Amino acid sequence: MSKFLDERYSGLAAYVPGEQPQDKKYIKLNTNESPFPPSEEVLKAVNESQIELLRLYPDPDGRVLTKKLADYYGVKPSQVFLANGSDDILNFAFMAYGANGRKSYFADITYGFYSVFANLHLSDYTEIPLEKDFNIDVNKFCGVDGIVFIANPNAPTGIALSLNEIEKIVKSNENNIVVIDEAYVDFGAESAVKLVDKYSNLLVVQTYSKSRSMAGARLGFAIGSEEIINDLHKLRYSTNPYNINRLTLVAGEKTIDSQSYYDDNCKKIIEARSYTKTELEKLGFSVLDSKANFLFAETDKIDGGELYLKLKEKGILVRHFTSERIKNFNRITIGTQEQMECLVETIKDILEGN
Ligand SMILES: *Cc1c(COP(=O)(O)O)cnc(C)c1O
Repeated sequence: MSKFLDERYSGLAAYVPGEQPQDKKYIKLNTNESPFPPSEEVLKAVNESQIELLRLYPDPDGRVLTKKLADYYGVKPSQVFLANGSDDILNFAFMAYGANGRKSYFADITYGFYSVFANLHLSDYTEIPLEKDFNIDVNKFCGVDGIVFIANPNAPTGIALSLNEIEKIVKSNENNIVVIDEAYVDFGAESAVKLVDKYSNLLVVQTYSKSRSMAGARLGFAIGSEEIINDLHKLRYSTNPYNINRLTLVAGEKTIDSQSYYDDNCKKIIEARSYTKTELEKLGFSVLDSKANFLFAETDKIDGGELYLKLKEKGILVRHFTSERIKNFNRITIGTQEQMECLVETIKDILEGN
């Protein structure tokens, strides 16, 4: 740290992304990316002539993509906000509605970026404990006095709330914004997009990084009331109006055109998830009921940190968190069926002492 850094940032604990070691080729099951490439249409569209156009600024309003998303989700273009990954949107939401002593609420075990943004923006935040079984007690999120962030399905547990439960939270917080972070919704949960016309305090956030095979392109979007979307545009135009590059916009458009390809991929992941859960349970793991593209699992046969290290030695990366309540767990991204079979065999070997 330099002596010049503003002291309000000196104690900031930054977000720690999943590791990307370069020493050898790993089966990468640690950052919830898709194991499948973008569709043929996307690959074709991001071509030489698009690359030549990089000399020009992108459309700061991403109008073509905005319109496609609006049509796909049955809302108006003025209800859609695009950003450089959904992290960008979460950042704007904290800035707009939870900064400088204003209150914010999220679970104690959830996406790690919420507390980072809360600290960055000097939010007066409360972490609401999950129940012993890692479920969310919806009542604890009802009628609070600040912005609410809920990942649905939650990360790293994978557990989803029903649309009714989400609606209960949104309805009871009419004086606060409720952000539903649906990074993993395409893997089996219900989207709250259907509720945006009914509740003007609801902001639904989604990403292209997981189900849409575009983590490297950085694209996220939010759907909400026109008023909220306008607030977000104001902040975006005050920081970086060109926050989505040209190639990403084109890729995002073609992704929507090939939705059935992505639906098929989600199906394959759901099948591989179910296979993996069953196999891990046979090996003595307890595995939370996941509606996401990962499983959160622990066993009393081996310490979570040790399993993580042994898997890494054998060329498989999973995500291990060190915080007290979840340190015996590992979060395992669902890859292809072959990758998951390899994971299961490798864990068998490790449990047998090899
Ligand atoms: C991965 C993830 C994000 C961030 O996604 P990007 O669009 O890649 O920034 C947001 N929320 C949750 C819960 C995630 O797991």
